[in-house]
Amino acid sequence: MNTCSGAWLTLIFASLASLYSPTAAADETEATNQILIHNVSVWDGTSDRSIAGQSVLIEGKLIKSIGADLSPETATTIVIDGRGQVLIPGIIEAHTHLALPVSPREIEAEDQGYLSALSVKAAEGVLMRGWTTVRDIGGPSQGLARAIDEGIVVGPRVYTSAMFISQTSGHGDMRGLNDPHPNMGGSADAISRRYNLIADGPAEVSRAVRESLRHGATAIKVMAGGGISSEYDPIDTTQYSVAELRAAVEAAEQWNTYVAVHAYTDAAVRNALEAGVKVIEHGHLLSEDTLKLIKAKGAFLSSQSFGWARRAVRAQYLRQGQQRGRPNPKARRVQSDKRSKVEIVTAGTDNLMLTARKLGIPVAFGTDAFGSLRAYEAAVHEFGYRLKWFTSLEILKQATSHNAKLLALTGPRNPYPDGPLGVIEEGAYADLLIVAGNPLEDVTVLEDYETNIQLIMKDGIVYKNTLE
Ligand SMILES: [Zn+2]
Repeated sequence: MNTCSGAWLTLIFASLASLYSPTAAADETEATNQILIHNVSVWDGTSDRSIAGQSVLIEGKLIKSIGADLSPETATTIVIDGRGQVLIPGIIEAHTHLALPVSPREIEAEDQGYLSALSVKAAEGVLMRGWTTVRDIGGPSQGLARAIDEGIVVGPRVYTSAMFISQTSGHGDMRGLNDPHPNMGGSADAISRRYNLIADGPAEVSRAVRESLRHGATAIKVMAGGGISSEYDPIDTTQYSVAELRAAVEAAEQWNTYVAVHAYTDAAVRNALEAGVKVIEHGHLLSEDTLKLIKAKGAFLSSQSFGWARRAVRAQYLRQGQQRGRPNPKARRVQSDKRSKVEIVTAGTDNLMLTARKLGIPVAFGTDAFGSLRAYEAAVHEFGYRLKWFTSLEILKQATSHNAKLLALTGPRNPYPDGPLGVIEEGAYADLLIVAGNPLEDVTVLEDYETNIQLIMKDGIVYKNTLE
């Protein structure tokens, strides 16, 4: 399933070379880097149908014009024949963790260079599946984001949240039971230094938010309730007081950005909304009343099917149980603890998705991929999992124009302020896919990305083109 084979890389570099050859740059007219995609059916990210027979002219990184009768403006405009297929905006992932390519517990044991290499590989795979932007909602992905933007490595646009912020014993507190607290005689481990800041009380929370912002966070991620992948915080726990959450919101708002919280339960989400939190991540156990409150407050719901999580967790437990070819009592204990957490959370998914849909609350398209390279690959099945609750068109809107609204909450912290994302319109970023089949009617064509996604463009640069 590795998409970036040698052949792809050759294609990528051939495309880059065709756009950025030194001879082209020397010529005034050629320096505009125009690409004309013609003969495509354009779906703009918001409409209910695509429009056939269209052309899209890209200049540099932005869409310059769209119309039925566009022709190349310069002698060097590169022309791509879309063969009548559908042109859609690049997919936006609302919830991923590129800096967590292994499980949180494994972070401590692994070499940082190795972890960074895995993250680079993961990012490349994400882009080559047609996902041109990710909201990286926790974990130090800021260096990766920079390397991608500088063209050093290949990957999607990354809206990083830098460090998670968690209370002692919260979802981000991944210490073992023999690790002393970093503020009570212990020294900070790798997770507590770079991945998750443990902060208690409004003053410490403010400091942690400012620290994450200093490292380049475009938004702030706070753990407001129990989580699955952490050992010592039951799902029902409410983490942080309203006063602590309000401290986080105030510190984020001083930087003109927002706070998103990890939370599954009514109590955790109500605290967050009261404190001014703008985005609820997960929310699987919410009642209709709390969902109505989310809507009334104008907050965003960023949830996931967790179809991949159920599979990955099951596989991991199997591996743990089979270690050394004999029963492992500790693995069984962990298995039963964690399986109950997964079961508690995923049992709410149907109710969450159906109630949100009924109330007209858009659900951001995200996967919560982390833990292994395989997890990022498997994230493409989020399209199919969502068909249980949404139409293909609704899912496509979630994954493009709606997610772009969520990203826009970053205000002046938006790393990509030169045009809108998630739409095909004049002035928008040229993040585009040409897709075989009709994703508006069957969004799962995007799961077989190797065959069906025939062109991948990000920032006006072609990363894949099998149409030639
Ligand atoms: Zn997550």
